[in-house]
Amino acid sequence: MSEPDELPEVVRLARDLIRIDTTNWGEGRSAGEREAAEYVGSHLESLGLAPEYYEPVPRRTNLSVRIPGRDRDKPALVLHGHLDVVPAVAEDWSVDPFGGEIRDGMLWGRGAVDMKDMDAMILASVGSLLRAGEQPARDLILTFFADEENGGVEGSQLVVRDRPDWFAGATEAISEVGGYSIPVGDRRAYLLQVGEKALVWLRLRARGVAGHGSRFHPDNAVTRLAEAVAALGRTSWPVALTDTTRQTVAGLAALCGADASDPDAVADRTGPAAGFLRSTLRTTTNPTGLTAGYKHNVIPDAAVATIDVRTLPGREDEVLAEIQRIVGDDIVVEVSHRDIGLETPFAGPLVEAMVGALETHDPGVPVIPYLMGGGTDNKALAELGIAGYGFAPLRLPRDLDFTGMFHGVDERVPLDALTFGQRVLTDLIRTY
Ligand SMILES: [Zn+2]
Repeated sequence: MSEPDELPEVVRLARDLIRIDTTNWGEGRSAGEREAAEYVGSHLESLGLAPEYYEPVPRRTNLSVRIPGRDRDKPALVLHGHLDVVPAVAEDWSVDPFGGEIRDGMLWGRGAVDMKDMDAMILASVGSLLRAGEQPARDLILTFFADEENGGVEGSQLVVRDRPDWFAGATEAISEVGGYSIPVGDRRAYLLQVGEKALVWLRLRARGVAGHGSRFHPDNAVTRLAEAVAALGRTSWPVALTDTTRQTVAGLAALCGADASDPDAVADRTGPAAGFLRSTLRTTTNPTGLTAGYKHNVIPDAAVATIDVRTLPGREDEVLAEIQRIVGDDIVVEVSHRDIGLETPFAGPLVEAMVGALETHDPGVPVIPYLMGGGTDNKALAELGIAGYGFAPLRLPRDLDFTGMFHGVDERVPLDALTFGQRVLTDLIRTY
């Protein structure tokens, strides 16, 4: 396929990163991030920077570099991204998920949304600033992590444990899943992520008695597990607002004239973002996997399901107790991985700077805080006392289901959204 030579740098960077397959199947199974890290590193070196690498597990490569700011007394700001992507089943896609194809004014491929777009925006913003002979307002720490899609187990968690020196003097961080626009009624708003729900990954384990598939056999682990999975999967968790989501609902309702006393109805006024926002208002418990049996005529003695639980910050233990009640005492509930929730006030100089940068480039469009249902490497950075925000600024067409493309098929991002984001980020680092 021929490529237009005049592609903006941010598009080229994102495209090249998409073409490096960094698939993460989870639990340590991964293509590895080394080539992507080296690509990012060589770009940073071309800007006269000297990134450091940390590979705690072979091929799980993280890198970081500090760029001195004009005022070195101010706390440093971290800009971070992850280099891995979730798997893509090529048959389900309209394009090669690792082809980095440009079509209909958009860049397509796994990572175009999550989050090689933002990786490229960070690199291009810093590049445009440094090549203009300028410095950021304060020290910037650019960090690119491995293994985010597995909770950072071989990435941010080990970096924070082993290389906290990378983040010396940093108090705030900016990364993915926020800063993009959504439709609200017939208006538009930007979501700024100021918190993340807590994450609890569970295994439900049912036990029974093994036996021949032809027998009368009530003590069946598969049946028992299926009942538990159905009960949990069908549980409708009630809306429970936090400081952040109260502001989300009020902000959206004011913009579209909806009734703020019905948060789900307010979320439903945001077009394709509705399901995404509904998940931010409550606990979710989604079954994601089932494992049992090895032969059609053998009843296995055990059956296991995986459940992805996201609770409001601080509610994990109360939700776990409720889950045990829902699935019943004969199901063993094991926590295979958990991580904290985060919530930072929608206030302060960095928030004002992010809102101001968007206002400069898209005047009159409000910025509304929200609490993300997913998790990011901001959770690991929080252990170092760093407050993280989701701010990957993208001005998007109202009919594009952007939030649905995180881990979805046909991930794509408009080229003009990438260049918009680069301009907003460049302003932010120049002035904050
Ligand atoms: Zn991501």
